[in-house]
Amino acid sequence: MLDFWNHLTPQKRLLYGLAIIIWLLIIGICAWRYLQPAATVSNDSEPVTSTEAADTPAPDAPEASTSNATAAVLADDTFSNLQLTDPTLPVYDTHTRAERQQQGLPTALPQLKPYHEGKVVYLTFDDGPDGVNTPAILNILRDNHVPATFYVLGKAAAAHPDMVQRMFAEHHAIGNHSYDHDYGHLYASHDAFLQEMAKTDDIIKRIIGVRPLILRAPGGIIGHFGQSWWPTLPSYGYVEHDWNVSSADAAPNHPVAQNFIDNINYGTDQPVAAHTAIILMHCSDGHEETVKALPEIIRILREKGYTFGVITPMTPQPW
Ligand SMILES: [Zn+2]
Repeated sequence: MLDFWNHLTPQKRLLYGLAIIIWLLIIGICAWRYLQPAATVSNDSEPVTSTEAADTPAPDAPEASTSNATAAVLADDTFSNLQLTDPTLPVYDTHTRAERQQQGLPTALPQLKPYHEGKVVYLTFDDGPDGVNTPAILNILRDNHVPATFYVLGKAAAAHPDMVQRMFAEHHAIGNHSYDHDYGHLYASHDAFLQEMAKTDDIIKRIIGVRPLILRAPGGIIGHFGQSWWPTLPSYGYVEHDWNVSSADAAPNHPVAQNFIDNINYGTDQPVAAHTAIILMHCSDGHEETVKALPEIIRILREKGYTFGVITPMTPQPW
């Protein structure tokens, strides 16, 4: 090759040189053109990408369906999306009552028809969270694929925010159970009661970004404010649920796991709990026996044909 090149006249070398340069240029241009369309396809494919996005939810869409992502329903501004039929979906509000007032949004819940499903049991755990029994209960619920409702104290939620996050992430319902369970302050007046509920809502919302629409008055509302107060609570944006089956796990005589199992077994055989059984238990400090009893309680309820729901504004009242 070198020999061939040496025998060429300078003019021919120039010509051959130019030919090689032109040939290399052509190859370069072809290669560039070949690669360029690939880049264009990915640019042109923008509409395609959005078509795909229409099929697969866009990153933002699940927010609206965050409901689906978190298996919870978030109330819209006017509470117009709360007439639900699935008793396993927790319901929350993205605004506190005060925020609704500031923004001129309705604060009163509309009339909602209770669920009409067959035989549903609602496990409810009051007074938590703590750092021992609540996680143990959450583990049992997770292992048995059972949703439940936790009526939390604001004070306890502030002390164990990780537990509140876990309840929310694992699709349980979180309800308001006052700030610190102090009857003297809580039941001093309707205003005092509402202030404690608001204080607890604020704490819960700081932790999970939403606040409950359900509450349970410590000790039951009827015993403290009388029957007239209960139906007015939805006008303040809350639905209260007492219970119709008690485990009696907070009884003063230190009952043990088998007592709770027996109480619940008996209570769920009564006509009042035939279709809607709302079971009272506790998940706070000192309730290790409740943790022990829970797997057997779940087994018995399943055997009786109950499905497990979470309390929402649509949950039927227990009486
Ligand atoms: Zn309580």
